[in-house]
Formats: sequence, structure tokens, C-alpha cells
Amino acid sequence: MPIQTLNPATGKVEKTFEELSDADVDKAIAQSVSGFHALRSLSFADRATLMMRAADILEDREETYGRLLTTEMGKTFASARAEVKKCAWACRFYAEHAEEFLADRPIETKAQRSFARYLPIGPVLAVMPWNFPLWQCFRFAAPALMAGNTGLLKHASNVPQSALAIEEVFRDAGFPEGTFQTLLVGSGKVERILQDDRVRAATLTGSEPAGRAVAATAGDHIKKTVLELGGSDPFIVMPSADLDAALDAAVKGRTLNNGQSCIAAKRFIIHQDIYRDFRDGFVSRFEALKVGDPMAEDTDIGPLAMAQTRDDLDKQVTESVAKGAHCLTGAEVIDGDGFFYRPGILENIPEGAPAFAEELFGPVATLYSAANLSEAISLANTSRFGLGSAIFTQNEGEIEQAFNHLDAGGTFVNTITASDPRLPFGGVKASGYGRELASDGIREFVNIKTCCVG
Ligand code: NDP
Repeated sequence: MPIQTLNPATGKVEKTFEELSDADVDKAIAQSVSGFHALRSLSFADRATLMMRAADILEDREETYGRLLTTEMGKTFASARAEVKKCAWACRFYAEHAEEFLADRPIETKAQRSFARYLPIGPVLAVMPWNFPLWQCFRFAAPALMAGNTGLLKHASNVPQSALAIEEVFRDAGFPEGTFQTLLVGSGKVERILQDDRVRAATLTGSEPAGRAVAATAGDHIKKTVLELGGSDPFIVMPSADLDAALDAAVKGRTLNNGQSCIAAKRFIIHQDIYRDFRDGFVSRFEALKVGDPMAEDTDIGPLAMAQTRDDLDKQVTESVAKGAHCLTGAEVIDGDGFFYRPGILENIPEGAPAFAEELFGPVATLYSAANLSEAISLANTSRFGLGSAIFTQNEGEIEQAFNHLDAGGTFVNTITASDPRLPFGGVKASGYGRELASDGIREFVNIKTCCVG
């Protein structure tokens, strides 16, 4: 894949970049090592000052960076600006809490003094996707840098300017040289970078094949990985739910980020008693969505990020319909410049159809009916994925049942699944392993050193 900015709203290439040579990459790794020595010798307070400055810079450049995200991957300008602000929030959150999260943990033993200390491990490679070009990276970088690690970013090839902007934020904030570097390389160079002894660990957010490849190489070289992969999140609605609130959330959950979010609600499992009402409300809300220029204020849904993303989605829909799924509305390519797709809803999806088993990475919802909560949960758990999940109900017993039995990294009640710096984020099954954010995220890439004074 060429490293370039190709505006998905127009289909035009705006900027192309040369891939770094192996020698350039080696130099960057060497700088990451010297940056690590500098960064780890700073106190938490000093790192926090720099991280706060990074937050200020993000807030100052909200509009510039927001425009960049919209240009590179097509999310609406409003959501792009919100993403920039959320990154500033993550920086502030870890600036304020890293020291407390990584404080020595006293442990009583026969020794005079024993405790666990959380020490940084060195350069960490981050392989990141295009769907939240800044957020995915900041949620790795803010805790990693506050812990004293350095970051090497291999971003998706279609968001090179966003990738460079991230490096710019940390540089302008005054972090030691080499603390955070963007490597403009294709995925073919990832293996070589991971094989380098100086790179100590890797985190990847993206597809299953990419996760498998990175984890295999890292495993070969005894390096830890955190994987945040795809999701096909269930969204269950029970009869006691506030139906209007559930419908509004369902539309938001499915179409957020033009439908390209790993934690988007994708499979809507509705109790049979309210299925028809839900379906009618869902269809009318979908038909009212405005698809168009992502820079326009009244646009709900912009283009999909790449021609390939749109074509893959359309193929999954077409094959599912051929296998018997019924299309209630939309779910078709919109002709013209740019990679626009009409938001759609499928029902009566047979088990063998792609829409049943695979993730739909775009604005297409799948609808199912269930006789009771146990049936809804077992349908939800048929998925290979287990990232987020949501249930709409007023019943305490049902809430507990969902918390305990939905196979997912998170269960949200009467609200959509969303990431938050204060909450751990990650999945189970084919959605990956490890956690980002909260105190859990900052402890993924540290040496938990046993310290013992006899
Ligand atoms: P990819 O996995 O293709 O790309 C993600 C990143 O991995 C890119 O930087 C890509 O580089 C790189 N990459 C791809 N193949 C390899 C490989 N074999 N070895 C090393 N690096 C590789 O994902 P998409 O861009 O298609 O993103 C969509 C997928 O990612 C969906 O399945 C989605 O659910 C998942 N995702 C998960 C998220 C989560 O938080 N769990 C969040 C966002 C997306 P290049 O661009 O150069 O190919």
C-alpha cells in the first residue's frame, strides 16, 4: 500500500511519502534507545509537565489536526475535533495519575522490606490503524511515555500526516529527542523492526491477520504484545428498556465514525415482544441520516476511509443477501466521487452468511430477535469476537446476567460502549488480549521488579 493521503471524500491523492529505508529505521531505533535513557531518568513530575504541555498543544491545534483527520480518513469534522480533545484528556489523565498507578506496591514477607516496583522496559513498537488516527496512538503513548518507555509508531499507510502530527506534538511539548518517533514504513517492514533486540515489546490495534503476524514475530523473539483487534459487538434490547433512548443509542453506536469502529454496536439482538417496534424505529432513523461531505456541519456520515473498505463491506452485504438475508434499507454503494455508502440494515441473516459471522466495518447493522435474555446472550456469544457489548434494560437481574455471561471485554448498560481513559479497554477471544487505558494499561509495558531487602 502506498504511504499517502488520499481524500476519501473526493478520491484524490493529496500527498505521497517515501518509505523510510532500513538504515533510517535503524537510526530511529538507536534514537529511541537514547531517548529511553533520557526519559527514564526524569521524575514523574517532570514527565507530567511535558505531558500536560502535549495536552495544551493538542487543544490549541484542535482545528488543524481535526481537518487533517477528516481529510485523511473521512470522519466528520465534528467527530475529528472531538477526537483531538479526547487525546488531550488522555494526556492529562496519565500526567495526573501515572505516579499513583506505578507507585511501589509493598508486600509483607519475612524480609525487612519487600515490594514490587514498576520500571519502564524501553522502546515499544505501536502498529496502529486509521480509524481513530490520533486516539488509537495517544491511548498507547500517554501511558507508555509516562511510564518512561519510548514509542516507535508504524501507523496505517493511509494516515501519514496524522502520524507525523503525533510525533510533532511530543517534540513540541519538549520531550527528550527520540521519545516518540513516527516511522513511515509499510507493513512489510514491521517484522524486521520487531526482530531488533532493542525494541522491547509491541502493541497492535487492527485486524486479526495483522495481529497474528505481529504476535507471531514477537513470540519468536520473546517479546510481549498487546492486541486490540476487531469486534462484532452485540447490542441487546429488552422489553423494560426505554425504546426511544435505545433506538437513538443504536443509531449512534452503529454509525459513529462512519461505522468504522471496533467497538461499534454491530449485532442488534432485540427481545421478540418489541422487535417490530424497534425495527420500524431503527429503519426510519437510518433513512433520516445524512450522508455527505464530512466537513459539512449537518452531515451525519462521511465516506468510508478507502475504496477497499467500502468494497469489502459491499461484498459482505451482497453475499449475505445472496444467502438469504433481507435488506430492510440502504446498504449500497453511492455512485460518484469518494467512497460513500448508504447506511443499511439487514435481518433474517442465516448462520452461513458473512454478516452473521464476520465483522462489518461500515454503517450496516444486523438485526436479530430473541425469545428471552438467555437466548440473546447465547446468540451474542456465538461470535468469534468479544470486545464490547451493550444491553438496554431496567431490570437489575438482567443487568447482572449480562455482566456475568456476555463474553466480552466490556458490558455497558443503557449506553453505548465507549472508551474512556479511566476505564480498562480490551477484548477476549479473537478481539485480542491485554488492556489499554486506566491503571491496567500503564502496567502492560513495565518490568514488575521484585525488590527485597533481607
Ligand atoms: P489492518 O490490520 O490491515 O491495519 C492496521 C495496522 O496494521 C496498519 O498500520 C497496517 O499497516 C498494519 N498491518 C497490516 N498488516 C500487517 C502485517 N501483516 N504485519 C504488520 N503490520 C500489519 O487493519 P485495517 O486498517 O483494515 O483496520 C480495520 C480492522 O482493524 C478491523 O478489523 C477493526 O475492527 C480493527 N480495529 C480494531 C480496533 C480495536 O481497538 N480493537 C480499533 C480499530 C480497528 P498498513 O496500513 O501499512 O497496511
